[in-house]
Amino acid sequence: MTLTPRQVAVRSGFSKTQSSGDVAYTKDVITETYGSLVFGDAAQRKHLPRDVYKRLRRTISQGEVLDPSIADAVANGMKDWAVAHGATHYSHWFQPMTGATAEKQDSFIAPTGEGTAVLEFSGKELTQGEPDASSLPSGGVRTTFEARGYTAWDPTSPAFLRHTPNGVTLTIPTAFCSWTGEALDTKTPLLRSGEALDLSARRVLELLRMKGEPRPSRVFANVGPEQEFFLVRRELWGLRPDLMATGRTLFGAAPPKGQEQDDHYFATTPSSVMAFMQDLERSLWRLGIPIKTRHNEVAPCQFEMAPIFESVTMASDHNMLMMDLLHEVAARHGFKCLLHEKPYAGLNGSGKHNNYSIGDDLGNNMLDPGADPQSNRRFLVFLTALIAAVHRHQDLLRASIAVAGNDHRLGANEAPPAIISIFLGSDLQAVVDDLIKGESRSAEANGDLNLGPDVLPNLRRDSTDRNRTSPFAFTGNKFEFRALGSSQSITLPNYFLNTIVAEALDELADKFEAIDKGDRDDAAIRKVLQETLTRAEAILFTGDNYAGEWHVEAERRGLLNLRDTPAALERLNDTKNLELFQRYRVLSQREWRSRTEIQAESYEKKLRVEARVALDMATTMFLPAALRAQRRTAEAITAARQASADLNLSVQERHLNEVSQLICDLSDASGRLRKELDAELPEEPVEAAVDCRNRWIPLMNELRGYVDTLEGRVADDLWPIPKYRELLNL
Ligand code: ADP
Ligand code: MG
Repeated sequence: MTLTPRQVAVRSGFSKTQSSGDVAYTKDVITETYGSLVFGDAAQRKHLPRDVYKRLRRTISQGEVLDPSIADAVANGMKDWAVAHGATHYSHWFQPMTGATAEKQDSFIAPTGEGTAVLEFSGKELTQGEPDASSLPSGGVRTTFEARGYTAWDPTSPAFLRHTPNGVTLTIPTAFCSWTGEALDTKTPLLRSGEALDLSARRVLELLRMKGEPRPSRVFANVGPEQEFFLVRRELWGLRPDLMATGRTLFGAAPPKGQEQDDHYFATTPSSVMAFMQDLERSLWRLGIPIKTRHNEVAPCQFEMAPIFESVTMASDHNMLMMDLLHEVAARHGFKCLLHEKPYAGLNGSGKHNNYSIGDDLGNNMLDPGADPQSNRRFLVFLTALIAAVHRHQDLLRASIAVAGNDHRLGANEAPPAIISIFLGSDLQAVVDDLIKGESRSAEANGDLNLGPDVLPNLRRDSTDRNRTSPFAFTGNKFEFRALGSSQSITLPNYFLNTIVAEALDELADKFEAIDKGDRDDAAIRKVLQETLTRAEAILFTGDNYAGEWHVEAERRGLLNLRDTPAALERLNDTKNLELFQRYRVLSQREWRSRTEIQAESYEKKLRVEARVALDMATTMFLPAALRAQRRTAEAITAARQASADLNLSVQERHLNEVSQLICDLSDASGRLRKELDAELPEEPVEAAVDCRNRWIPLMNELRGYVDTLEGRVADDLWPIPKYRELLNL
């Protein structure tokens, strides 16, 4: 019997030996190689003249403007370091509004005019690049004939080396803007929002400061993003046009065994995957990315890796790099990494928990409740600001996670719903309740947990239990924003967070300032917090976010329930949002509108690709498979009739009927979807997103229904693509 390509691919995996990965790095000593590919403090100290080094450090740690006259010296030191590591090229690396990173590479060569060349890298080349901006999304800010764009060196995120088997590139993190000065990336607003948060937070801290208490010189957000992902065997992935083009399966009947036995979460990671994870960790550590945690996730073939938190700019650059490396390293191990939010229907999707706190350069965490949160003024003020900000700007937080893939995940009984709410945990909720009631009692000790046997240590009980269903949960000394999609860049949700928190802190500061200095005691401050919390209280929810009753209750409370991306995008251009981002100089109104447009267009384009792929697969793969199955059954019936006229062939005939009906249904639904795809959409991008959601998604679901039913009717050897049960094995 000749095997079909699918059968060959499925079987090839059975004998596959485990990949040993990038062996050269598996024996290095981590403490020696950690950060070795980064032009960080140690390398700067070694390769830069002393005074240049000092001035660069001041820029990095204090946010001081970099003196252009030292740029040449920095560039030269950086180049020497990179070339010593084998670099031939440099690139300005940036984050346009594609959701991915982009770069343009140039070599260091400078011909001498005598047929030879030297390697050069100037301060100008370090600090400014001029990539063409016309072919990257600008939402109308740029047109093709006014193409000039600039990249500007971001000294707060150190340059690093990217290795491929045949070369090394010095990679310089940059911000990207148009010739007219508008931001065309996600990094610039993140940096601007960081400045806004810094100013507002220090303003509040100054008002709360006790005599003799030290003043922080910088306040910033810290973020630890937990990254979930799926792995699939590469040879099977290559047989699924839907996975290849859209990152998710558009078809596939439920497998006999999915995640129902709860036997995947925290289970032993298969050794082939462990080899991949270890290889990835080595690569990340050498880039100074503090990857810490690795484990199996809930769905089969789903995993999570998480770093130790860093300042939000570092964390977002590092998460972008990590997503790149997930793909790169997976390929070395015969896997394809799926970052899509919902690769498989009926199984858990992937998110990215954004752990957010606010710290200062003195090492304080404003969200650390300490032993007695009741009397921790700084904590209560920042907590109140966050609660007020999330309450007022539910729409923004919802929109910050609005990407097409996330729509399949949110509210699907595995991920928080589209309703934004905050979980504080019982102890903290009691503190807030007291504040609202104007009461005060002192904290109760959490106590230890004693498990019985003496050999087991007593465990320290956390001040809050967990609520996995909450989209925005307080977890000890940080908020965990859990609704982010796994494929998303974390920049957008975090510059939204920074900005809305800055605004809330300023409002509190205004109220504190309105009180005479002499009267600004604890009671006066608590009174301000009481007023603010009373207004925002509706956002606090301790119950089960997955339950149906919550939808009813949330509506009663007047909370927003923006069910999908188009619904979330419809609110973005509200005046409140345009004004807020303009006021804090994070995005001008023009920049803001262009971004809404890009987000909407990206939704429509993704959906269109999915619909096209679905149509193509239906027409060229599933219909032919069904016709073959139909013919096989028809031939069997004819042959049986010839053999004996009075056989009972009712089962065969029923099968033939079912398959024939499905062929009709599938072909009919395909025709309707094709027609809808050809129909014109409204000009306005958000309206277009709404329209294509309404027209295409129901038809795609209908198509899928027929195909998945066919999968259960057509003989296995005729099925043209790997099935769920095959994809979900490593
Ligand atoms: P879990 O969410 O499972 O409790 P952890 O407490 O270890 O796991 O934290 C998960 C992520 O949150 C990690 O990336 C961790 O570094 C990060 N994190 C821990 N403390 C903070 C903090 N104060 N601010 C921001 N992120 C933090
Ligand atoms: Mg977590």
